[in-house]
Amino acid sequence: MNIRVGLGYDVHRLVEGRQLWLGGILIPSPVGLLGHSDADVLIHAICDALLGAANLRDIGYHFPDSDPQYKGIDSKRLLSETVKLIRQAGYAVGNIDATVCAEAPKLNPHVEAMRATLAPLLGVTPADVSIKATTTERLGFTGRREGISAYAVALIERIA
Ligand code: MG
Repeated sequence: MNIRVGLGYDVHRLVEGRQLWLGGILIPSPVGLLGHSDADVLIHAICDALLGAANLRDIGYHFPDSDPQYKGIDSKRLLSETVKLIRQAGYAVGNIDATVCAEAPKLNPHVEAMRATLAPLLGVTPADVSIKATTTERLGFTGRREGISAYAVALIERIA
């Protein structure tokens, strides 16, 4: 198959005393996402979509949160490593489409910066990185501002 598709999903809890990293950028917020890494839930969903597209297991398999070398790590590094794994499997990234579910803060003002940050790491142009933001109408854990979730799909194309 010359093109393959993958799906990624991730959730992190919102807590006080943490920075909010989303899509590779720091977003002003009184609360941030809790995790072993910087907890960038959007990047993690994109990594899982890419790994899924290549049938290369998942982000926890390659970068276990029990491994001290990943403590506090910038998730952009995990994305770069993931893209390397995809390339080693003979694929390049085609495009990404992602949705972040968060009640607050407003993410739309930051979407362009996220696309510009992630595109070079993915080896594509910002035109190939779609990021959408939605609330969940105050329903569920995202609606109660207990956490943020992200979904991503990735298309990869065979290059070797
Ligand atoms: Mg995660």
